[in-house]
Amino acid sequence: MNEHKGKVAVITGGASGLGAASALRLAERGVNVVLVDLKEPTKAEDVLADCRAKGVEALAVQADVSKDEQCKGVAQAAQDAFGRIDILVNCAATTRFAAHDDLDALDAQDFLDVYAVNLVGPYQMIRACAPAMKAQGRGAVVNISSTAGVLGIGSSVAYAASKGGLLTMTKLLARALAPEIRVNAVCPGFMDTPWLSEHFSPERYEALLESAKTSRPIMEAGTADYVADAVVFLCLEGSRYITGETIMSDGGHHLGLGG
Ligand code: NAD
Repeated sequence: MNEHKGKVAVITGGASGLGAASALRLAERGVNVVLVDLKEPTKAEDVLADCRAKGVEALAVQADVSKDEQCKGVAQAAQDAFGRIDILVNCAATTRFAAHDDLDALDAQDFLDVYAVNLVGPYQMIRACAPAMKAQGRGAVVNISSTAGVLGIGSSVAYAASKGGLLTMTKLLARALAPEIRVNAVCPGFMDTPWLSEHFSPERYEALLESAKTSRPIMEAGTADYVADAVVFLCLEGSRYITGETIMSDGGHHLGLGG
């Protein structure tokens, strides 16, 4: 008997990278998945097929998490299709690439655009999904933040600040939504997904992958599956008493190499 069979997970950014890997891992545990993405559902077809091949039902909903009405529409679509929501994984995000010491590289609108997706988006998705979780008496939210939000590194000041804010919000909502809903976060380090591979030239990206292998205690570049494993732990397995917590999934990058 699979205790997770029939549960429902809503995964934003589910058409790609860490969201897609999380969806597949959850599907392997018997969880039905709703993939939410800016991209049209045809772009999620491979992920949907992979999830369905695990024996679950899978649905793609095109939505922009920065738009509150669309977040509400996602929660409604999940309930119309499955009658429940057990898990929310907030994976969708955006960035602006800008050198940290170039204070003119970002204007107010850049900050607002990044915050709208990376911080307001998860808030709106949690608000839209929380009533269904509360009604069931149990739910789990996982916010995908970043080492950028802990260490003050990454693609830009706006991005790092948005991810730091998401960690603060994780703690606050863990307290506010307890005892029914647990809220935790995962902070990936550099992971091999389209997030960076689509931004850099193949040569530069290859160099980044190589340097990741020598700049962290666990001498490997991260894969999406590593983050998906942490998501599954925080949603399903062995984490019943854990809320407001952050798991660093970065091969120990935040520790430095010491020595
Ligand atoms: P990705 O580019 O593969 O996937 C992100 C997905 O989010 C895309 O499919 C995109 O269409 C979707 N998206 C973007 N804006 C959206 C919006 N407004 N509404 C709905 N969907 C939207 O990237 P990824 O590596 O899978 O990144 C997932 C998460 O992991 C992000 O929160 C990112 O900040 C975080 N992260 C990634 C890395 C890394 O190295 N890959 C490192 C640290 C943190």
